[in-house]
Amino acid sequence: MRWGIFSDIHANAPALEAVLADIARRGVDRHLCLGDLVGYGPHPAEVVDRIRDLGCPAIAGNHDLAAIGRLDTSDFNPYALEAVAWTASRLSSEQEAFLGDLPLTWRSGSVSAVHGTQDAPREFLYLQTLDHAQRLLVEQETFLGVFGHTHVPVTFALSGEQVGLTYERRVDLSSVDRALVNVGSVGQPRDEDARAAWVLFDEVARTVEIHRVAYDFEAVAQTIFAVGLPPVLGERLRYGV
Ligand code: ZN
Repeated sequence: MRWGIFSDIHANAPALEAVLADIARRGVDRHLCLGDLVGYGPHPAEVVDRIRDLGCPAIAGNHDLAAIGRLDTSDFNPYALEAVAWTASRLSSEQEAFLGDLPLTWRSGSVSAVHGTQDAPREFLYLQTLDHAQRLLVEQETFLGVFGHTHVPVTFALSGEQVGLTYERRVDLSSVDRALVNVGSVGQPRDEDARAAWVLFDEVARTVEIHRVAYDFEAVAQTIFAVGLPPVLGERLRYGV
């Protein structure tokens, strides 16, 4: 089975279309979406409809729950809060219901998925230390764990008691015990690469490949400026921050 896994679309429809086209070109058996369909970007309704129509497994991110009033947003920054209110005003009741039905975790075969971390799926923690990665990997019930939330692609791997991390674009996992992969962000990358990110996991070969796809971020930035979202949300797309 070849998986096309992506996360943090953030209402950026052109980035999502570029990723789906790249996935189709490379060929996968299944798609998997790790949440934050909406928030920040100017196309929340289009992105929700596109993911619903894909019919793939998808899980909820913090921005999805925030947009439908199901998350305490007191720790959101002012730009994110403004985007939450704007997003909420653009969603139909059907689109809200779709987001509300997304589970917090998902699992099938050798893959388990969460937006933040499996030890607290509803708290949307940022995985930032090797110690935390090691605890998660030791408790992980599948060979591969995939997540998003930080918008920075990275692979953690466990061999025996040893945990390591790499930012390599292609990682051979055939000799490790378990791995935990952040698939980066489709619609708002934060690793100083403006291109959209997604991950191809080959379940038989046990490899992960982080792919980057160019799209017209300037057009999305201009739409953000035009619809009245905070301009910083458009400017950051140019730099991938
Ligand atoms: Zn996000």
